[in-house]
Amino acid sequence: MRIVVIGAGVVGLACARALVKDGHAVRVVERAVDGDRASFGNAGGLAVSELAPASAPGIWKQVPRWLVDPLGPLSVRPGHALKLLPWLRRFLATGRPEEIARISTANAAIGRRATEDMADLLAEVGLPGDLRRDGALTLYESEAGFEADRADWTRRAEHGFPTEALSGDEARAMEPAISTRVVKAVYDPSWSLVADPRRVVEGLERWLREREVPFHEAEATALEPGLDRVRIMLADGSAGDADIVVVAAGAWSARLAESVGDRALLESERGYNVTIPRPNVSLTRQLVFAERKFVATPLAIGLRIGGAAEFAGLDAPARLARADALARLAKIYLPDLDTSEATRWMGQRPSTPDGLPVIGWSPGKGRVIYAFGHGHLGLTQSATTGRLVAGLLSGDTGDVDMEPYSIARFRR
Ligand SMILES: Cc1cc2nc3c(=O)[nH]c(=O)nc-3n(C[C@H](O)[C@H](O)[C@H](O)COP(=O)(O)OP(=O)(O)OC[C@H]3O[C@@H](n4cnc5c(N)ncnc54)[C@H](O)[C@@H]3O)c2cc1C
Repeated sequence: MRIVVIGAGVVGLACARALVKDGHAVRVVERAVDGDRASFGNAGGLAVSELAPASAPGIWKQVPRWLVDPLGPLSVRPGHALKLLPWLRRFLATGRPEEIARISTANAAIGRRATEDMADLLAEVGLPGDLRRDGALTLYESEAGFEADRADWTRRAEHGFPTEALSGDEARAMEPAISTRVVKAVYDPSWSLVADPRRVVEGLERWLREREVPFHEAEATALEPGLDRVRIMLADGSAGDADIVVVAAGAWSARLAESVGDRALLESERGYNVTIPRPNVSLTRQLVFAERKFVATPLAIGLRIGGAAEFAGLDAPARLARADALARLAKIYLPDLDTSEATRWMGQRPSTPDGLPVIGWSPGKGRVIYAFGHGHLGLTQSATTGRLVAGLLSGDTGDVDMEPYSIARFRR
């Protein structure tokens, strides 16, 4: 098959790799081959046991407090609030226990394979040492915070991801840099880290170029699936065609799906971080600050401190003061942290309201495959998404039930 993958983030490139391995003739269309993307600056964590949607019960009690804090973990820019309503309505509906159970099962089906799929991918692109399997520590400032998450930890264990509850001192024995403010922790051995998420993207690109996969720098504006091919309209007025198109355009994918006649509820959930090459603290594993909703990750390029969920649409300028706020917050928990050399970054998570990616055929239209909407888990789920996309073509997606990931779930 002649296949065009639109988007050269980690998801698109992982799909391209899996398709090349299956013998297809793949081309990549990317509007900014050397541009920045969510896949470069993320926190580098393989959060394989993160299963439930963010709308889990209890979250709403905290929302008003977060929203009034201009640099808090959640913000909605006033100009975007109305546009967000349909997404928000669906987001709220996923907070029901039966929805949480359904979504967790679907995320677990990917999570159980994700580490090994990523290990294979990294080994193949020449980065076998880039996967660090040291688990993660989630830290709590209060017993109440831990109790609020207890159901989530139980759910993870039920899906095959057991964890270990620790005292603050036990957590400090594992990571001495943590301050005494932390009174409780949970060690999750299932999580791992990549040394640098950008290196994964670059490694994939190199691997594809070595196999003579062309990268076309162009913006796809619309798709027209026909009986025997798909026409791809480009922003410069030209067009190309392919037997199959894979839409992996991250937070921008909904526009392309719309041109096919498919509706996706997709928001850019903007996140921020700072990366500190010489942080003056040493960590072995990723730390998740549960109550404050941010993470600290030891990468090969320094300590990365990131988080925040900002809903402002695709085109609003970044508010990098949010990144500074995260650096200040981190100093509370890592008192020796030196942030003087921090560089700031913003990236757009492609987020669905139910916290599940969109992976599957365009219903009714054929010839178009979707691979987007991975939200907080795009790096984690990328290698497995590639495998599933190739499986859609070969007719073998293993024992994974693909129905929960279908774009059809957003039909009115
Ligand atoms: C602060 C932060 C921390 C994160 N931490 C983690 C983490 O620890 N673990 C994890 O698993 N995930 C994490 N994520 C999420 C993860 O980064 C994303 O889910 C993932 O990068 C999405 O990858 P993607 O390939 O779908 O999108 P992108 O990386 O955004 O790539 C999409 C590409 O498509 C291109 N494109 C868009 N439209 C078009 C078009 N019309 N034509 C041609 N090209 C187009 C874009 O230029 C872009 O290069 C984090 C995200 C943020 C912001």
